[in-house]
Amino acid sequence: MIPYGKQEITQADVEAVIEVLHSDFLTQGPAVPQFESEVAKICNVQYAVATNSATSSLHIACLSLGLGAGDYFWTSPITFVASANCGLYCGARVDFVDINPLTYNICHVALESKLIEAKIAGRLPKILIVVHMCGQSANMKELHNLSVRFGFKIIEDASHAIGGFYNGQPIGSCAYSDITIFSFHPVKIITTGEGGIAVTNSKTMATEMELLRSHGITRNTNQMTHSPDGLWYYQQIKLGFNYRMTDIQAALGLSQIKRIKDYVARRHHIAESYNHLLSNLPIVTPWQDKDSFSAFHLYIIRLKLDLIGKSRQEIFDCLRESGVGVNVHYIPVHLQPYFLNLGFKIGDFPVAEKYYSEVISLPIFPGLIASEQERVIKALKEALL
Ligand SMILES: *Cc1c(COP(=O)(O)O)cnc(C)c1O
Repeated sequence: MIPYGKQEITQADVEAVIEVLHSDFLTQGPAVPQFESEVAKICNVQYAVATNSATSSLHIACLSLGLGAGDYFWTSPITFVASANCGLYCGARVDFVDINPLTYNICHVALESKLIEAKIAGRLPKILIVVHMCGQSANMKELHNLSVRFGFKIIEDASHAIGGFYNGQPIGSCAYSDITIFSFHPVKIITTGEGGIAVTNSKTMATEMELLRSHGITRNTNQMTHSPDGLWYYQQIKLGFNYRMTDIQAALGLSQIKRIKDYVARRHHIAESYNHLLSNLPIVTPWQDKDSFSAFHLYIIRLKLDLIGKSRQEIFDCLRESGVGVNVHYIPVHLQPYFLNLGFKIGDFPVAEKYYSEVISLPIFPGLIASEQERVIKALKEALL
């Protein structure tokens, strides 16, 4: 089976991890801050706080922006559930904004009208969690303008998007947001096994997230209520978590991040081949915004089902039977049973729901070779017949 996504582990990666295993620190050593500074450098951003997952990073990002009970936060229905769960962990209430039918990202027009209504109802969101679907940036200029006008904060869930650019700036520069999150799960652009990171230009938020990732404990005397009892002394000043990344993970990340440009270039090459070789089929290939250089985490096709005469499921099953590990990204979050129990229902976000009924994610990852891609294309053509 050709998977839809897959990590690449080189000998250099293995050696980097082994080196840490033989060193004094498996965790809380030097590799984590080194990895943080590499990520900050490629993102052209001031601070980076690494954690054990993007989900943890999203959680402490929401907390550091003051999200809590009684607050609302909004996100896209077309995302992984973690983009919504992170705010629920804080006791806040979630709502969604429908997607743009071309980019599959939050639609700024839908957002604006929802904000106008919410303002009248006195239910404006405190935070908007923007997802850069497939690695293509959302329309951050418009979203940022709305955040200024309506007074909310922006977290970019850029789990798909490290190595991408928007408006000439690397994703993660936080030019139009407060905090950006990346994921290092193995299917993402680069991996640490499990892992995530939050980047920001705010020293206050970076300090807060550093505290929250490690129990709310500080060894910094400036943050303490009184001078230390002795050299052993630390203080817990917040209720935090153990969300730390290990040095083993950071070493893998440091080795992987060296290849990020190459990885994104290979993903673009694969995407361009698909665009070219699939151009005469009854499908929609990924539309690209001229302001955005996507990291191409996913390559999603949209089936023109009225021209095909088969269901998405039939086509999907046919591809799987041919050994092509296709997938669907994503089941609209508001239609998950947990969210239906919160009061969401079918029909709430029609563009997202229609999108969900028509899409298939084709394999795309740096190690996908030309003969495998040909197999995918052949299987798709057969499935569409
Ligand atoms: C993968 C993913 C996450 C969660 O990442 P983890 O590192 O697995 O916690 C969150 N949001 C989106 C959009 C993702 O794709």
